[in-house]
Amino acid sequence: MPILNANPSLVYVGRFAPSPSGPLHFGSLVAALGSYLQARKLQGKWLVRIEDIDPPREISGASAHILDTLEQHHLYWDDTPVYQSQRTALYQEKINELVAQGLTFFCHCTRAQLASLAAKKLCPCADNVLSADDAAVRFKNSADIVSFYDLVQQQVNRVVSDTQAQFAIKRKDGLFAYQLAVVVDDIAQGISEVVRGADLLHATFYQLALYKAFGAQPPRFAHLPLVLSANGAKLSKQNHALAIDNQQVTQNLFNAMEFLGLMPPQSLAKAAPEDMLNWAINAWDLSAVPRKIACNDNRIKALYSI
Ligand code: GLU
Repeated sequence: MPILNANPSLVYVGRFAPSPSGPLHFGSLVAALGSYLQARKLQGKWLVRIEDIDPPREISGASAHILDTLEQHHLYWDDTPVYQSQRTALYQEKINELVAQGLTFFCHCTRAQLASLAAKKLCPCADNVLSADDAAVRFKNSADIVSFYDLVQQQVNRVVSDTQAQFAIKRKDGLFAYQLAVVVDDIAQGISEVVRGADLLHATFYQLALYKAFGAQPPRFAHLPLVLSANGAKLSKQNHALAIDNQQVTQNLFNAMEFLGLMPPQSLAKAAPEDMLNWAINAWDLSAVPRKIACNDNRIKALYSI
């Protein structure tokens, strides 16, 4: 008789969810490695989801490049990668559910109009029944979540200036917003724990509000320190990040492991990637990850940014 897991929530499912806005850089390799090690340590699944719902920001060929770089680093995922661009019917269905519950409004404001609203003030569209044509769909967020517990950063408090009140779940240009798609997919894919970069720490408040609206149990969250670039900003395509060099797999893995608080012995510095990863899975301890939002490491900056 097959053994069925009586409590599906006990199954660990993690994920890495890159946006194909450029090739993988060292910061995204750190997020990939951290989420991979946590899933493998807990003998769970590690899924890859390509978050390609923003065509204007997409770089042609980036999805394939990202998947290839993961493979070159022996970060093999489970199941078939999911592409958000193929899931828009589900996102619309979930928006319709929120609309039917009266949790949304159609907003015709421009960015400038929204920026000029006083903090904590709802935009006037919230009080009017406006046409859905050429409108953003905004979520009426009344969840008022003020803090959450993060497995790395521990207690995270909402910043006072952030009203959280009315974020877009579908943009005026008809594209689905990241906050909506990420929550819909994390629920649909049964993600039990989200391990990602601390650039998304405060997005978690928006996402927790959506979990509540969908009546879904949120995953646990673990936000890893960000890698900074030479100019002190988050390492990103716009901020001088170099694309990961697939000729330097061992060094990249070694550096990413050290960045995440592991102390790989020098003997591993020339080991095969699978031996390095096996060592890292064994040694992995989420509680040893530096509890910092960002890490200002000059050696890493010199190696991985211009
Ligand atoms: N797609 C997002 C990014 O590349 C990450 C989403 C997430 O991990 O929640 O920044």
